[in-house]
Amino acid sequence: MKIIEIIGGERPSLSFEVFPPKTDDKFESVMRAATEIAALSPSYMSVTYGAGGGTSRYTAAICASLSEKGVTPLAHLTCVSSDKAHIREELTHLRALGICNVLALRGDLPQGFVAREGAYRHASDLMREIADFGGFCIGGACYPEGHPESANDAADIEGLRRKVENGCEFLTTQMFFDNNTLYNFLFRLYRAGIRVPVVAGIMPVTNAVQIKRIAALSSAALPQSIVRIVDRYGDNPAAMKQAGIAFATEQAIDLFANGINAVHIYSMNHPDVAAAIKANLSEIIR
Ligand code: FAD
Repeated sequence: MKIIEIIGGERPSLSFEVFPPKTDDKFESVMRAATEIAALSPSYMSVTYGAGGGTSRYTAAICASLSEKGVTPLAHLTCVSSDKAHIREELTHLRALGICNVLALRGDLPQGFVAREGAYRHASDLMREIADFGGFCIGGACYPEGHPESANDAADIEGLRRKVENGCEFLTTQMFFDNNTLYNFLFRLYRAGIRVPVVAGIMPVTNAVQIKRIAALSSAALPQSIVRIVDRYGDNPAAMKQAGIAFATEQAIDLFANGINAVHIYSMNHPDVAAAIKANLSEIIR
């Protein structure tokens, strides 16, 4: 099933994300986690591509396995280090596996990156390539607090407009911790005439180390309420996890209550976290 049909339906959509193993010997444990999350019957599951050092060749394999388990997969695909031949190979492989949803991304620029002649420069270039290839529902990333490389909000919105013009059918947000940030962003999209559905991405902060990584790697502002939770419970893993799940649950309830129909949980290969959030929302998403 295409993601656009899932998130455009009447029923609220709750989806989860997994990332492939960083090393081959971790493949089995990642598959176990993905299988446990799939057993929660989410609306769909996304599988990242090479993010955070994960091996990209497992993305398609994990997606295929999710399909077999009856869960619609969304395969991420980045283009920054690729060329046309490699992208076409990846798309041919995904198609052969029956995977029809791709989240098309540029990827983070490696240090000292210099674009080769003919290389893809932006996610929108990859989207055009996928649209020309045909048969895929294409999604893209968006940044309620602005992409760190964007000069200003207007430039950020222009980047998103190009994505939509080149075939992007839906957007998934970078994590954010203050829902008002998303509501303001949605207003900016609306004012710019960008009408594709937006999936709200939420990261449950369940340990103190994670918050340091988030602060270092993403532009998401950390509200005092999260900082206080980490200060108070950072040394108590069980309490920290409980508080992080409660915070993410509350965020999701507010989003659904305000008419957001699709929430995506950055569940980081943690089936227990995904299960707890799903259980907390069971009546809301029924
Ligand atoms: P782009 O759309 O290319 O945007 C990058 C910057 O360029 C922005 O500032 C944008 O405004 C600007 N821009 C866009 N088009 C133009 C143009 N034509 N001219 C000038 N400027 C332009 N990374 C991974 O490696 N693997 C993953 O699986 C992965 N999954 C992700 C999922 C989500 C939901 C999100 C939010 C991010 C994900 N990332 C992933 C990280 C992502 O690749 C990085 O954030 C990257 O820095 C930007 O990707 P993009 O696709 O938004 O790029």
